[in-house]
Amino acid sequence: MSPVHQASIQRKRIRELLASEDGRFRELHPGSAARAERAAEHLLGGVPMPWMSRLPGAFPIFFDIASGASFTDVDGNEYVDFCLGDTGAMAGHALEQVAEALGRQARRGITTMMPNDDAAWVGEELSRRFGLPVWQMAMTATDANRFVLRFCRHLTGRPKVVVMDWCYHGTVDEAFATLDADGKVRVREGTVGAPVDPSVTTRVVQFNDLDQLERALAHGDVACVLMEPALTNIGIVLPDDGYLAGVRELTRRHGALLVIDETHTICVGPGGATRAWGLEPDFFVIGKTIGGGMPAAAYGMTADIAERLGGSHDAESIDTSGVGGTLTGNALALAAVRATLSSALREDDFARMVPLATAWTDGVRAAYEAAGLHWHVQQLGARAEYWFCPPPRNGADAAAGVDAELDRLMHLWAVNRGILLTPFHNMALFSPHHTQADVDLHTEVFTAAVRALTE
Ligand code: PMP
Repeated sequence: MSPVHQASIQRKRIRELLASEDGRFRELHPGSAARAERAAEHLLGGVPMPWMSRLPGAFPIFFDIASGASFTDVDGNEYVDFCLGDTGAMAGHALEQVAEALGRQARRGITTMMPNDDAAWVGEELSRRFGLPVWQMAMTATDANRFVLRFCRHLTGRPKVVVMDWCYHGTVDEAFATLDADGKVRVREGTVGAPVDPSVTTRVVQFNDLDQLERALAHGDVACVLMEPALTNIGIVLPDDGYLAGVRELTRRHGALLVIDETHTICVGPGGATRAWGLEPDFFVIGKTIGGGMPAAAYGMTADIAERLGGSHDAESIDTSGVGGTLTGNALALAAVRATLSSALREDDFARMVPLATAWTDGVRAAYEAAGLHWHVQQLGARAEYWFCPPPRNGADAAAGVDAELDRLMHLWAVNRGILLTPFHNMALFSPHHTQADVDLHTEVFTAAVRALTE
């Protein structure tokens, strides 16, 4: 946190507000409190998955029902959901088409290790949307990234992966690497059980720095660059003009493959940033939202790569090659992807979502400007986010701008007034089910928080 940008906000005031908001949270959530106490007996950290404890409040909110862009908790509190399962439910919660397709397929066989009629449709649609001609399924984006890294090493015979400082690509060991103050690759702080020193597997560069990328590639040992086209996991960091074209040119020149992970940047449009910005990846990864909430992910590749891979797959050992999984590409997942991509995340959905994100951004900006705060707000298609510092140009700047205490307050303040933000950073994601009234509620709640902080 830079004290300069928070000059008019006292730490003491943040802590006072945190204490009163904590009391309010407990009053509003007796039913969640009781369930949290019970769950803590047999679940590590009281939750089925560790990140769920990152939600605002002294204990997790237990939800009762989620639908469209909102949910109700077990205490009957209603929320506008700008988290949307951290993008898993970007198409909307409990989509009728998905529920119907899942019910139908569940009665016709969930997993058989055989393709059915949905398989070819899904391949065609992924290809039509994202432009890469050949596809494979995975269960999660993590899974897809892992498979793609294997393929990249296999195809190039090179050991290393380049990632951006402060990236996130799932629980992919190679990507848990950051640069220290001397520019050395280190295990990212907080990573549990790293298998090897990540400098063995990984070179880390700053986003928007082509010179550094060139130096990393010049070693001649890099199989691929794995990156988001705009960083979204350490806040939104947009690419400079010409940066992505430069990455493509350098990777080609140095014989490294380019893997674009669009798991979050699908927020740019129906074909992701790849389609919207004319990118030319060798591999394309997408997870989360394509299954309407069901675990499903996919990776696409160029025709040239598909041909090279086809020839190198040994039929006898295909099940132990390190790619694929027993439940991967199961019929239920394919039904979910077909239902989602045929009924959601289309041009007209984005035509609703993006203007709402713009209105949210305008409301946030007006509030902090009126209070004289040097914050900023950034929009990337249907995703928007505010920061307590000027816009970062790379992951290291963004990480240095984090103010965990103020983040905690803003999230708690919002959740106590019926708004759930994405628990990581101060991010709002829009689905086609959000409304202008949802945006107006956020603007009102955010403005009140800024006033309480600066009065
Ligand atoms: N890639 C990106 C860009 C992500 O943001 C994430 C998750 N936040 C992942 C991959 C991993 O997704 P999952 O946890 O569903 O495997």
